[in-house]
Amino acid sequence: MVMDFLAPSEPEEKTTAKNPWKILIVDDDPDVHEVTRIAVAGCQFEGRNFELLHALSAQEARQVFFDHDDIAVALVDVVMENDTAGLGLVGWIRSELGNRFTRLILRTGQPGYAPQTDVIMKFDIDGYAEKAELSRTKLITAIVAALRGYKLVMSLETNRRKLKQLNTHFAAIVEKNALSDFASAVLRHFNDLVEQPLDCLLCGLDSLPDYGAYDRSNIRVLAATGIFESKTDLPVDVLDDDVIRKAVNLCVDTQVTQSLAEGVALPLVTRNGMTGALFVSMPLKQLEELVGSEVIQLFVSNVSLGYEKTGLLEHIRDLAYVDRVTGLSTFSGFIETFQRYAAASTPLLVVHSDIQRFRVIVDGIGDDQAAAVLKKTGHRLSQIFPDALTIARKEKDEFLILLKGGGANRVQDIVARVEDAFQDPITLDDNQMTLRMRLGFATAEEVLSQEAEQLVRFASIALNDVRQKGLTNHAVFHPLMQEAAFERLRLASLLTGAANQTEFFMHYQPIMQAQDEKIASFEALMRFRSQSGNFLNTARMIEAAEASGQISEVGAWMFKTAFSEFSKFSGISDTVRLNVNLSPRQVQTNRIYKDIEDAVSSAELPLHRLVFEVTEGLFLSNDQVTLSLLTWLRNKGARVVIDDFGTGYSSFSYLRKLPVDGIKIDRSFIMNMDQDADALAVVKSIIAVAQALDLSVTAEGVETAAQRKIMRELHCDYLQGYLYSKPLGEDDLAGFIQEAGSRGFSFD
Ligand code: C2E
Ligand code: CA
Ligand code: CA
Repeated sequence: MVMDFLAPSEPEEKTTAKNPWKILIVDDDPDVHEVTRIAVAGCQFEGRNFELLHALSAQEARQVFFDHDDIAVALVDVVMENDTAGLGLVGWIRSELGNRFTRLILRTGQPGYAPQTDVIMKFDIDGYAEKAELSRTKLITAIVAALRGYKLVMSLETNRRKLKQLNTHFAAIVEKNALSDFASAVLRHFNDLVEQPLDCLLCGLDSLPDYGAYDRSNIRVLAATGIFESKTDLPVDVLDDDVIRKAVNLCVDTQVTQSLAEGVALPLVTRNGMTGALFVSMPLKQLEELVGSEVIQLFVSNVSLGYEKTGLLEHIRDLAYVDRVTGLSTFSGFIETFQRYAAASTPLLVVHSDIQRFRVIVDGIGDDQAAAVLKKTGHRLSQIFPDALTIARKEKDEFLILLKGGGANRVQDIVARVEDAFQDPITLDDNQMTLRMRLGFATAEEVLSQEAEQLVRFASIALNDVRQKGLTNHAVFHPLMQEAAFERLRLASLLTGAANQTEFFMHYQPIMQAQDEKIASFEALMRFRSQSGNFLNTARMIEAAEASGQISEVGAWMFKTAFSEFSKFSGISDTVRLNVNLSPRQVQTNRIYKDIEDAVSSAELPLHRLVFEVTEGLFLSNDQVTLSLLTWLRNKGARVVIDDFGTGYSSFSYLRKLPVDGIKIDRSFIMNMDQDADALAVVKSIIAVAQALDLSVTAEGVETAAQRKIMRELHCDYLQGYLYSKPLGEDDLAGFIQEAGSRGFSFD
């Protein structure tokens, strides 16, 4: 085995002629030169001839050493110019010349001149003989033994040099972070190491496998050289050569070296589950002869270490760029891709999308299942948009899609594709659910910006607009939306202002029975006053509270305040009710049950004196959470009416199925019905349908006697508007109740 390791690095036949062993004879006696020449004539060691060099003095020998740096053996006479010329030469060779390789055999004519043991040790002398003893056989034996020694030290030296080279290589290799870069660096250095181009494959995983178990189909060609070069990046399973493919796969699976006639597959053994193999198209034995088995082992274990580390880095990079839930890109990855395309001046379109009512879905099915929904949604988006430059999950149920911009009807086309694809429900284990995607668009052309964050923000503003209005499933960013968003932000900040500078209080607006004009109810409407004493627009403040997620807090305050104030109204009958408004967002939280219960119990107000006003938008996605809340309220005796009826989805068909008691016709219809025949027609048909379904009808925004007349003729049940009263604060309210009695309204 040792001899294999020591075997010459090139095929023997070739080297015989060109690579003889150089043997230097140093002796002041020309006869010795002659005798030695005759003795070794025709000799070979391992197929290589001997080439004799001659020096007649230590001085001459020095010159020969200068001219030849590959002298294998020197036979040195101890006594030449002077008694110590031979030893002096030997000391010079080792110390001054720094030659540690040439094997040295000392010869002397007189026994008295034998060198001391310490000299033999110090100068690494291989042999000592008296010239008289050196028969041909003995001489050749001594030379061959010395040649063996020479070969050994040379091969150790080569290894040492290679190892040193490896260390520098590896310092460079592990600098490479991306696996492909790392892998090609490995092959480049490997070829340097063997000093010839070999066909090589470095196969392995792209990143750390989940839970340490890898999927064979994820093993790919990370880098390749020579005939394999075109296979780079492909899965190992597409290698055409059966034998090599099997060997690589087996090597990866078993982590055991696969030695073949075609080459060798060396396993990359790591501690973190990164598994791989280096295939070299040279049989192991030959490879080991070339560079030494230690070098190969060291190389492979260094590669494994580097691979392990790079895999980890890639994993960390993945954590930053690959969304764990969906396998899509992350927001960071999205921004990076965006910037790449933006740099190339590609016109870009950003779609920011979310799942309507996702929170409700999560409440219903739990986090694990919700993750499965996200995964399927992401998958479906990938199918819809094979043309996407990237698709990312931003957070929760929010997705970002980056598409090439330009082209007419692009938005309509995208909306249609999404609607179409989400027509089919998503199937979980035993659940099926139909998802509605909402989409916000921003294109670079429209906003004259190719800045990633900005375009994403614009798309988000558009999506937010969709969420706010709840009327459509998509919107394209428009600068006005941004102003609205800024305004909402400003207003929302007023809700939480450092020292709660914004004052909240309630106003109440009476709702009258249409036929006898008795007070039926009061609608509680919030009022906001800024520190400077100005009233803030209620509708916009509510919108801001919704957008910023503060609506539940605000709503809880409203329930508490309105219920307790209302319970203290004096001079009204206890059949008069209190109407309160519920925002869609508020309805989606679980705390609303407790907020209502706490408020009614502390105000000692029975729930049957309450009317909850909700908007049509609430019923759009027909989710169970909303329906259960409304059913719960009605079971407790409260009523539910649909506010602003007619402004949203004017489909009557769904009215029948909803847990509601009545509708409030939106002010815009009432306002216009005396001049606008269409508005009147709408009002008529709304009332007809409501009556058919046994729903109560309230007209809001009644400002004139003419409007009141029409509504009474149409048998509308309740009237509300400035004709009777504006919303009133506590003080004015007492006056209104008193005065209302004298104006003929009754309160029993
Ligand atoms: P809304 O529920 O449709 O309330 C009716 C709005 O119309 C009120 O505006 C009221 O002052 C106004 N109004 C009443 N009669 C007339 C009339 O004859 N003519 C005209 N031009 N307007 C009339 P307000 O108080 O500014 O409230 C705006 C919106 O804010 C409300 O619309 C409601 O959606 C929301 N809001 C108010 N308070 C609350 C609350 O406590 N909770 C929630 N969630 N929303 C509220
Ligand atoms: Ca209302
Ligand atoms: Ca209304």
